[in-house]
Amino acid sequence: MTEINLQELQKNRTYVKDVFESDKEIVELVGWVHNVRDLSKVKFIVLRDITGIIQVTGVGSKTPKEIFDDMEKISRESVLYVRGKVVDSKQAPGGKEVLPEEIKIISVAEELPIDVSDYSKTELPKRLDYRFLDLHRTRTQAIFNVQSTIQQAFVEFMVKEEKAMQAQFPSIIGSSSEGGTELFSAKYFDKEVCLSQSCQLYKQMLACSIEKVFAIFTVWRAEKHNTTRHLNESRQLDFEMAFADEFVVMEILAKCVEYIVKKVLEKNEEDLKLLEVKLKIPKTKYLTFEEVGKLMKENKIHMEKYDLSLEVEKKLGEFFKDTIVFVYDWPIHDKPFYIMPKGKDLSRGFDAIYQGMEISSGGQRVHIPEILEKRIAEKGLDVEDFKGYIDSFRYGAPPHAGWGIGLERLTMLILGIANIREVTLFPRDRDRISP
Ligand code: ATP
Ligand code: MG
Repeated sequence: MTEINLQELQKNRTYVKDVFESDKEIVELVGWVHNVRDLSKVKFIVLRDITGIIQVTGVGSKTPKEIFDDMEKISRESVLYVRGKVVDSKQAPGGKEVLPEEIKIISVAEELPIDVSDYSKTELPKRLDYRFLDLHRTRTQAIFNVQSTIQQAFVEFMVKEEKAMQAQFPSIIGSSSEGGTELFSAKYFDKEVCLSQSCQLYKQMLACSIEKVFAIFTVWRAEKHNTTRHLNESRQLDFEMAFADEFVVMEILAKCVEYIVKKVLEKNEEDLKLLEVKLKIPKTKYLTFEEVGKLMKENKIHMEKYDLSLEVEKKLGEFFKDTIVFVYDWPIHDKPFYIMPKGKDLSRGFDAIYQGMEISSGGQRVHIPEILEKRIAEKGLDVEDFKGYIDSFRYGAPPHAGWGIGLERLTMLILGIANIREVTLFPRDRDRISP
């Protein structure tokens, strides 16, 4: 193994993509061994960096002997420095190859515990055990390139289009924020605390002063589910604004997802191609909960009284492809206490369904202390436990509304990937807490 001068390298290095896009003749490359082939008189190393792959070709009669002899011994995923001459080649991928004049092994890869080829034969759980190595795969890289764009586009949309303020919220809370029981507890000096299941109450407080606020917030849910769409730690794209009802924020949600998808189409063309995803800018459809009920009845699909089942969500995805389906006028019965009631039985809450799965819940919130007290009591919770929260609306609180989109959910649905763990760098589920 050789040490190289990294400062010099940073000055002189050419990325693989630039080899194809420039007419440089001598290049210094670094990257990982993607593939090795030995045809005895000719030896190939396919070198990969973050921008692409290129063939490094050793020819017995031309390449310096010590380099040529070493070429076949280099194991896959080892890290190399290659200095060489760029030549046109019809057979080489991309139409160019590098004839090596110097090869240095920077780091040797031992025998690989997982299959790192694009269509890996290793099952997901094992790949997740070795996620750091799974990230050598271009398919895995493509997924997280897209997720990075989703996050950036969300921030960009909120800042540029909505002029909203980005906020950070605490993850440690003294007690349940929403009255749910599915909370992780932790030790905090001599107290018992909980990990936040949402930033709901905090973003509401900000909407009541700052007016428009957004956050990318990590949430923890101690639900013992073991599904392909739930994690115990996930990230949410959260939004909340003052002087708005559910219709105002549904429209913003639609625009936001549209903006995100447009950016992914723009910035991740190659990733989408690699992942074989045909992505379309979503349309929107608005249906009341009752209308969904009728539609399901016509199609002989069972509909629950207060919630959409998985099957119903799936059907909505089939009936309205590439569409964000907003289901509003939702029964108040199962909605959290902070959702504004509408008449006797309905609420100002909604769910957004995209490609057959819930991506978001939202709605207008309760900003009137008396209604909050009533709703909390109706839920069988102790009003006293929520005193601080209720009191925050006693000093000038405008009507407000908002939503939260699951980042990993949105990623899996945009990419048509079946398991949420696949689109989570280091997933936390019921069994997995490492790496
Ligand atoms: P679901 O009904 O799908 O379990 P939920 O209604 O419990 O979700 P919300 O509290 O409404 O979830 O959270 C807002 C969004 O966050 C959801 O629409 C979904 O996109 C995402 N989300 C919720 N729970 C999880 C989870 N356990 N893992 C990953 N994403 C989640
Ligand atoms: Mg929900």
